[in-house]
Amino acid sequence: MQRCGIGYDVHRFAEGRPLILGGVEIPHVQGLDGHSDADALCHAIADAILGALGDHDIGFYFPPGDESIAGISSLEILREVRRIAERRGAWIHNIDSTVIAEAPKIMPHAAAMKAAIAGALGLDPHQIGIKATTNEMMGFIGRREGIAAMAVASVEVRDDRF
Ligand code: MG
Repeated sequence: MQRCGIGYDVHRFAEGRPLILGGVEIPHVQGLDGHSDADALCHAIADAILGALGDHDIGFYFPPGDESIAGISSLEILREVRRIAERRGAWIHNIDSTVIAEAPKIMPHAAAMKAAIAGALGLDPHQIGIKATTNEMMGFIGRREGIAAMAVASVEVRDDRF
């Protein structure tokens, strides 16, 4: 059975942290704050896959209060989501995503991000879509307070009983 899922995530900017998006460190004056590496793109993709499986969300598997996963790489989160999917006999057709940020420019890093995400999920980079837009200087993203990401996943699920 072919199923689709949606994911959304947002993290606020903070001083003194690296900016990690799609598993890639992007040079910028600020990074994103969070319990993990705060990779909003990977988190949105993880939730999209889990959603397609009809599974719990990322906060269930990686609770923000769990000190044992403080600073965890979000590529490791994607690897765990891949394991969850494999246990269900599911495989991913494709992922599409959009990063919403006023700055920095995302698309120069899209190829590296696709490679990193594909590697974590056991996919080909051509199965990963990454697009970017600004928020036309409106709202919290427009004020450069943070970065948001949304993703969809198309997944073939052999056992759709969760
Ligand atoms: Mg997150």
